[in-house]
Amino acid sequence: MNTQDYIKIEEQYGAHNYHPLDVVINKAEGVWVWDVNGNKYLDCLAAYSAVNQGHCHPRIIKAMKEQADKVTLTSRAFRNDQLPLLCKELCELTGYEMMLPMNSGAEAVETAIKASRKWGYKVKGVQENSAEIIACENNFAGRTITVISFSTEEQYKDGFGPLTPGFKTIPYNDAEALGKAITPNTVAFIVEPIQGEGGVIIPSEGYLKKVYDICKKNNVLFIADEIQSGLGRSGKLFAFEYAGIKPDIVTIGKALSGGCYPVSVVLSSKEVLGVFNPGDHGSTFGGNPLGAAIARESIKVLIEENLIENSYRLGKYFMERLHEIKSPHIHEIRGKGLFIGIELNDNANGARRFCEALMNKGILSKETHVNVIRFAPPLVITKEEIDWALERIKEVLMMD
Ligand SMILES: *Cc1c(COP(=O)(O)O)cnc(C)c1O
Repeated sequence: MNTQDYIKIEEQYGAHNYHPLDVVINKAEGVWVWDVNGNKYLDCLAAYSAVNQGHCHPRIIKAMKEQADKVTLTSRAFRNDQLPLLCKELCELTGYEMMLPMNSGAEAVETAIKASRKWGYKVKGVQENSAEIIACENNFAGRTITVISFSTEEQYKDGFGPLTPGFKTIPYNDAEALGKAITPNTVAFIVEPIQGEGGVIIPSEGYLKKVYDICKKNNVLFIADEIQSGLGRSGKLFAFEYAGIKPDIVTIGKALSGGCYPVSVVLSSKEVLGVFNPGDHGSTFGGNPLGAAIARESIKVLIEENLIENSYRLGKYFMERLHEIKSPHIHEIRGKGLFIGIELNDNANGARRFCEALMNKGILSKETHVNVIRFAPPLVITKEEIDWALERIKEVLMMD
């Protein structure tokens, strides 16, 4: 079977809820992936930052295989010997008191919302069923009904109502708007320290600290959604570290398993996660020993292989070199660590054709929001590989 055969079958039998580039991958290693014709590509998307440790990292694959031979799923009706260690290791690494494991990122966000509401009723004293949560315009937090209920992207909501009430949205990067939106019923403010799907949007210096202080002053929980920006992507373990704050709740997912398994986690305090009692919330696969073993090793790889520092250092280098490209299409280059977006001018005719041209030169990236090309390679990338990519990126950005 060739590329077109696979595409045809998927188009016939699979729902069309994505519009992928027409490359059919069947092998990957580190920063590289291969298609069914044997063509090799540099992966500059890293599965939306789920593969920060690089594809099929040998240590993570080894941990996965070893655990698969022992026990994969107990459900939380029973205990297993991996979840306790993941809880301890993650809390010690991040400085949080407790964590709650789920699978997808959207579930972690849902869990953070449930925790905040319950905290609002049981701890803050908000009247039952009247809790409000404030989110930012242009956010992305997943695709469940509740999570899309605070999206401002019309397509994400169109046809899926009735939506979940209890959310307000305010402009991103506008601290004053938060102050105005908070009421006595506000229990939480959820924000991406860097908006990923929104187009790698980096708020102004001081914004996160300001909104954090406003939350503290009003007894409102500050939820940092670090599912994409976290775990080294921004050049720090968490992007919020640049602001010198400690959010009340942090959601992580994606790279928590190095791309090997869906694992997500909510990190918080005993005061917040302590609102959950047995039976309040759960997931059949959440906290399973296979996922926990994979997450434990993925975190160790991130730290022991200095991938966070690599992201910081090579992200700076990548950005500097991108700034040297004098293309009429470039409107703005933004980034922190290896989390980089190039916003094109409106008359560049969209980012997709540039992503297709990059693909033809052996680089995989994906447009986000029509006009932005995102470069977010696995954090194991080397300077030489970035130089290789830059030559091709330059050629593509110089096309008509
Ligand atoms: C990807 C993402 C999510 C959702 O994660 P899924 O695993 O796709 O459900 C939530 N928040 C942010 C910031 C993300 O980038």
